[in-house]
Amino acid sequence: MDLQTDVLIIGGGATGAGIARDLALRGIPSILVERGDFTSGASGRNQGLLHSGGRYAVNDPEAARECISENRILRRIAPHCIEDTGGLFVSLPEDGAEYRATFIRACEVAGIETIPLSPRETLSLEPRLTPDTIGAVQVPDGAIDPFTLVVENARDAESRGARFFLHTEATGLLREGSRVTGATLRDRLTGQEFTIAAPWVVNATGAWANQILALAGLKIGIALSKGSMLITNTRLTERVINRCRPPASGDIIVPNDTVSILGTTSSRSDDLEQYEVTPDEVSLLVDELSRLIPSLRGERFTRAYAGVRPLVQVGETDDDRGISRGFALIDHEGRDGVKGLVTITGGKLMTYRLMAERTTDFICARMGLRVPCLTQAQRLPGAGLGHALQDRLLWLRRQTPASRGEILCDCELVPREAVDAILREGKVRELQDILHRTRLAKGTCQGGFCVYRLLGLLNEMRKAEGRGDSNRILRAFLEERWKGIRPVLWGISLKEEELIESIYKGLFNLNAAGNDGSAGGGE
Ligand SMILES: Cc1cc2nc3c(=O)[nH]c(=O)nc-3n(C[C@H](O)[C@H](O)[C@H](O)COP(=O)(O)OP(=O)(O)OC[C@H]3O[C@@H](n4cnc5c(N)ncnc54)[C@H](O)[C@@H]3O)c2cc1C
Repeated sequence: MDLQTDVLIIGGGATGAGIARDLALRGIPSILVERGDFTSGASGRNQGLLHSGGRYAVNDPEAARECISENRILRRIAPHCIEDTGGLFVSLPEDGAEYRATFIRACEVAGIETIPLSPRETLSLEPRLTPDTIGAVQVPDGAIDPFTLVVENARDAESRGARFFLHTEATGLLREGSRVTGATLRDRLTGQEFTIAAPWVVNATGAWANQILALAGLKIGIALSKGSMLITNTRLTERVINRCRPPASGDIIVPNDTVSILGTTSSRSDDLEQYEVTPDEVSLLVDELSRLIPSLRGERFTRAYAGVRPLVQVGETDDDRGISRGFALIDHEGRDGVKGLVTITGGKLMTYRLMAERTTDFICARMGLRVPCLTQAQRLPGAGLGHALQDRLLWLRRQTPASRGEILCDCELVPREAVDAILREGKVRELQDILHRTRLAKGTCQGGFCVYRLLGLLNEMRKAEGRGDSNRILRAFLEERWKGIRPVLWGISLKEEELIESIYKGLFNLNAAGNDGSAGGGE
């Protein structure tokens, strides 16, 4: 199978999916290849904060201006992916009133609305905050669901002619002299190899950008910064909570549906395949964030996870918090004399649309096309729908015993019909693909009680054949799940894990490695 298109996009994170949509809206054919599922990279491993820009206002004013401008656009085009929580920058006595004043001035300069709050006002909004607070500043932060955002961008692009190859890795670049003319690809599930020829290749692989560039003998300056996060069992606050101090580790809490995400850490990492969270990172996050919410120490944590940020480096520094969160669009003809190849990397989830707009503008200009960008105004297809949690609650209320609505995931109220619909689409190829498209296994039990129900459904729909296949899928899921649970296993979580382990070992006979071709939960 050898294919041809106008633009080949490598990478199916927010940036790649955003570029596919922008190109499709301008009538330009494209194919996107992604080595995993959509959101396999940083787009599925971030804190889900819809930045107001406040975090960058003092040290990185350009990133702050980009954030507030995109914040307003995303609220318009993707309201169903956003929870408008608002945010507080909370000052503790050691942060001082002086930084707070600097912060408010910097926000004003960047165009970010602020409302200063007294300690009493702050505590009346968020009673779980420490009574030591000396006040807060309210900003238009929010929470964003990256999974829906990316999948919706892709769906819209596909409905306008874009094509996608998931679980397909770019393994080489096709060259004609100094021009890149496409790529060689390998389907990671079937091993099938093929090529896609295109006059333009966009490297939207984020932290992996240099791996693609190495295929053309090129390299750019990016620092890879690993960030770890924790998920609590309940929603700690109604608003996003930031610490009002220069950006540091462990100073943000983002409400996410029924839970909260605590983050982040920052450390250099060259390993793009292993994202394990260390005990030191867990301690740092709990220690730092319990300064803001003292009851955090007694909380139950359901999962830890990490992602890698590609930070575009201009000079040399070891302090990753000091590197701009801005993005870079690199034309490799101008920089390296290699035609037909552009790299777009760095930035934020928040700025994916702008990154896509700049990339598409650049390609249009080079193609000699004058077609305006439409993504600032054109809403995503699901934009008329409500916020996802409310939808699930409404669905539940509508169910009568006669309608027999079946819930697959009790923690997150995921109805069977939602998963049925995804399976009927015929696009998913792996269990993780289903988990990326629903909240299944994202709740308290982390899939302990719902993934085997899902396997029943997969069997019924002939997506998994028999016991050998089901056990293989279960084993892979449990091994992945274990990576996120192990760093937070103490107290009640540990007890629940023992229960889940006994269910899988006792009920499904998933014992030690080698037993009937399956293994025991990665322990
Ligand atoms: C810890 C952390 C917290 C963050 N928190 C926030 C936040 O709260 N708010 C915010 O706005 N931003 C946040 N970010 C930043 C944000 O997540 C990223 O900027 C954004 O997701 C980058 O999207 P992307 O599409 O450029 O890259 P990615 O999402 O990383 O996508 C690149 C894709 O390329 C694929 N790929 C790699 N190599 C190949 C290949 N050879 N062939 C095919 N495909 C390939 C990868 O599998 C991956 O899916 C955070 C980042 C981290 C790491």
